[in-house]
Amino acid sequence: MASQEIEALAQALARLPGLGPRSARRAVLWLIKRRDTAFAGLVEALGTVRAALVECPRCGNIDTTSPCGICADPRRDARALCVVEDVADLWALDRARLFTGRYHVLGGRLSALDGVRPEDLSIALLIERVAAGGIDEVVLAMNATLEGQTTAHYLAERLEGFPIRLTQLAHGLPVGGELDYLDEGTLAQALRARRPVG
Ligand SMILES: [Zn+2]
Repeated sequence: MASQEIEALAQALARLPGLGPRSARRAVLWLIKRRDTAFAGLVEALGTVRAALVECPRCGNIDTTSPCGICADPRRDARALCVVEDVADLWALDRARLFTGRYHVLGGRLSALDGVRPEDLSIALLIERVAAGGIDEVVLAMNATLEGQTTAHYLAERLEGFPIRLTQLAHGLPVGGELDYLDEGTLAQALRARRPVG
């Protein structure tokens, strides 16, 4: 029988994606056994990251620096911009290590059902970035869901007329597929085989 405090920790961990109540309990036991080393390190890392978290004013990525590490990296190709729905998608794509440009996070997807309108997403800032020039290619990397594709169509319309190459991830993404859940090989393949919009 664990105390209320230990039980609360197990419940908090169980809410993390990928951890159920069983794994959470095992993690708690593991931490308790290593309370002098691993526990302190974890608490410190959590506190440090929490205090430093900031949303990048340029791309919407979440990082501990502003602008984020990707926007600030001079080795990144400033002429290629990959538009994603969420930070999770950015991280998934960047793990695939195929795209060397920068990103733009919309902060969601258009949805009549959930009442998400264009002005609720970071679309004006995207248009502003493209209008500022210096960008040759915009990759629309929306999820292969109905709402993701609706968002991509809307963006394609808004970006019409700019002197850019507009591409989107290749099909072959499973229908209904959320980028975050795809393995890196599949993602890399979809990026490599990206095709012009329209
Ligand atoms: Zn950024």
